[in-house]
Amino acid sequence: MMENYDFIVIGGGFTGAVLAYELIKTGVTVLLLEKDPNLDNATRYSYGGLAYWLATSETSHETAKKGREYHRNLSQELDADTEFREVNLLLTIDKNCDSNIILNNYQYFITKPDLLTVKEACELEPLLNPDAISGVLRYNHGHINPLKTTQAFQQAFLRLGGKIYYEDVRELITANNTIQGVKTQENSYFSAHTIVCAGWLTRKIFQQLGVNLKLYYTYEQVITVTQSNINLQTQVMAAASQRLILEQEAGKLESQWDKMGNELLPRIIDTGAIQFKNGHLCLGQVTQIFPNSQAKIDLKGSEKIIRQSIAKILPSLANLIGTCHNCLVAFTPNSQPLIGKIGDLNGIYAFSGFTSTLLLAPPLAKEFASFLTKNFED
Ligand SMILES: Cc1cc2nc3c(=O)[nH]c(=O)nc-3n(C[C@H](O)[C@H](O)[C@H](O)COP(=O)(O)OP(=O)(O)OC[C@H]3O[C@@H](n4cnc5c(N)ncnc54)[C@H](O)[C@@H]3O)c2cc1C
Repeated sequence: MMENYDFIVIGGGFTGAVLAYELIKTGVTVLLLEKDPNLDNATRYSYGGLAYWLATSETSHETAKKGREYHRNLSQELDADTEFREVNLLLTIDKNCDSNIILNNYQYFITKPDLLTVKEACELEPLLNPDAISGVLRYNHGHINPLKTTQAFQQAFLRLGGKIYYEDVRELITANNTIQGVKTQENSYFSAHTIVCAGWLTRKIFQQLGVNLKLYYTYEQVITVTQSNINLQTQVMAAASQRLILEQEAGKLESQWDKMGNELLPRIIDTGAIQFKNGHLCLGQVTQIFPNSQAKIDLKGSEKIIRQSIAKILPSLANLIGTCHNCLVAFTPNSQPLIGKIGDLNGIYAFSGFTSTLLLAPPLAKEFASFLTKNFED
């Protein structure tokens, strides 16, 4: 089969689905290629948080505000329930830490958190263990069901005439430094514009072209609980999160990536929990950095670590029956997404490596789609 499209999007996770949807809205033809019909990807295991507050510059603060507006109207626009709601995010401060020192670490965010006493925090979240914390930082936060939202983008994309094929992109069709399309196991598809939204595999796809992106990946382990009597009112996370620091450090070890080898840095645990509207819970999360994608993960060990740390903060959740999963998540060491042309290659673009993906990817997909399609207007 040989087909031609204005745009090919590789990857049907959250980033690919929103970009494909924003492209098709402009009236161009779009093919979305996804290798896994079950979407067993980073999006599936995500907490679903919309971190309105995570911006450190006026520009990212403006994008975050656009993201909030985007999500507020999205269920109506897509004619499907994304389960959007506003929640309190409680960032717990360990009982041995000085709340004011931790609060000070948040001064470089444009939106400052409220510092709550233990009593105030437990009023908002009665499941918190008052003996484990010295206080809590509170933010207004948003929440969606990331998988449902991705599927809703895909359905809306199909209704507008987009095509989704479940095929694995194996090769890029290249001539004279220009990408002309892609090859899957059975088919070739042609387009003057191929956009890579392949999560952690974005790194591998560009490596085929001889480009080493400054985009890496973490291994993330999380426990999902489908049935319980728990009623968690808030999203709970650690105020002294270590994941972003780990990502910065991992980016400095470029020469060690893509080689066989052990964990690059010691694993970390950021204790967190969120309950979805349907009652489903996510408990997490262990982050590990290996230099390649073949690492064997000790899921039992990670499950034990997550349960031990949850037992301190939210004791009633620690022994819920659940399953520990692992997935790989793309990141860039400077927390800036890769959007646009890469190097001097023509016909290929990246849209990947976001921090706060669920909030920021939609407004940036809208802008990127508008930029890419302006030459298609009559
Ligand atoms: C435990 C956990 C909690 C998180 N919490 C949050 C949160 O609260 N808020 C937030 O904003 N983010 C959160 N994230 C991060 C967020 O979930 C991810 O950044 C986001 O889902 C990534 O989307 P993506 O489309 O880039 O990647 P993915 O969801 O991994 O999708 C990439 C897709 O590309 C496909 N693909 C790859 N290569 C090919 C190929 N060659 N051919 C065809 N298809 C291909 C894959 O099959 C996959 O479906 C969390 C992540 C985890 C693991």
